[in-house]
Amino acid sequence: MSDLSRVQNPAARSWIDVATDSPFPIQNLPFGLIELGPSDWALAVPIGDFVLNVDAAISEGLLPEESPSGYGWEQAGIEACRELRAQIFDLLLQSNPALRDHAAARERCLLPLSQVQPVRPMHIPAFVDFYSSEHHASNVGKMFRPQGDPLLPNWKHLPVGYNGRASTVVVSGTPIVRSLGQTKAPDAESPVFGPCRRLDFELEMGFFLGYENEPGRPIPVAEAEDHMLGLVLVNDWSARDIQQWEYQPLGPFLSKSFATSISPWVVFLDALAPFRTDGPHQDPAVLPYLGSNQQATFDIHLEVWLQTAQMTRPQRITATNFREMYWTPNQQLAHQTINGTAVQVGDLYASGTISGPEPGQRGCLLELTWRGEQPLRMEETGEERTFLQDGDTLTLVGWAQGDGYRIGFGECSGTILPSPEFP
Ligand code: MN
Repeated sequence: MSDLSRVQNPAARSWIDVATDSPFPIQNLPFGLIELGPSDWALAVPIGDFVLNVDAAISEGLLPEESPSGYGWEQAGIEACRELRAQIFDLLLQSNPALRDHAAARERCLLPLSQVQPVRPMHIPAFVDFYSSEHHASNVGKMFRPQGDPLLPNWKHLPVGYNGRASTVVVSGTPIVRSLGQTKAPDAESPVFGPCRRLDFELEMGFFLGYENEPGRPIPVAEAEDHMLGLVLVNDWSARDIQQWEYQPLGPFLSKSFATSISPWVVFLDALAPFRTDGPHQDPAVLPYLGSNQQATFDIHLEVWLQTAQMTRPQRITATNFREMYWTPNQQLAHQTINGTAVQVGDLYASGTISGPEPGQRGCLLELTWRGEQPLRMEETGEERTFLQDGDTLTLVGWAQGDGYRIGFGECSGTILPSPEFP
């Protein structure tokens, strides 16, 4: 394989102007899929306020014919994608005239970012959600089991997770329909049916799998990152009242499976390498197959913004950092496969709600409003929020801050629509 380290040069600049606070400088070059027409998709890479249509650049002879492209690009494998990313870096580099000086080719290959329609970046065979923030798990434990230890006995020994629903993973911008379901108030005798009344978000990140395992063979923790294509933002929408009634003894089911939103652009681990850092100290020591979380996570700043139907601009309601997670992606993948389960290219593994230690760093409304007891106040309109109302728009953003540039993820956004009529 050729040397790809040039793509990490923080001093590199493109002939396309990129603002210093843009999520998409030449050091990022994440991959996504855009819809050009019915059943017509192209592999695309955002740069500044533009998107490079990779399929068009291949047609123009600006990138090799055998490059990953179109729907199914992820099946080409991580090495082919990394190689292509390096070739795109060269094409967009300030000194390269190949596309820079050819107006007709630029017209065909570069589209304004605001005018493209990103779709799910790849086919997603499976979705798994972990529960890997100690602060989040402790807060939830304190709320629901006030008498006991906030963490259950297994929590510091394995990354707790469950198999979720891949078919309802949707891309940013997709409206979210309020879930219908069964709920039962703790003091009520029997359950009732109707729209969810405690609709929540969960601030998470997730990694996409780029190489599957051999059947029956675990992926060792030291090799786990070699199987990851890259990271996206994830909002694991949650119907808290439905969840509270249904979750015992097998865990969440309908309270989670109605929708999960992701940001459209898959950010490569290569782009995040300069921001590698330690996870929190793990005590007690974990079993050897789980390795360690040292230098195994990334310094990624995360924010959540809420705008109600009455507001003219969003308000930031929390800010935290991905490095707070107790369990890291490679520990999660090593644990996922230790029993030999078959994982597939395109599988999405979400981190679990990301909460920091401070009240302003909590990653869901359940925690931010302490189960609805401490409403959030919207400064612009004076409205209060405990859980999400119809018409509310929730937006996650995140980036790693470099010297003069940002490796960003774009937005992961969704607006709540009313439940359907149901007898
Ligand atoms: Mn979750």
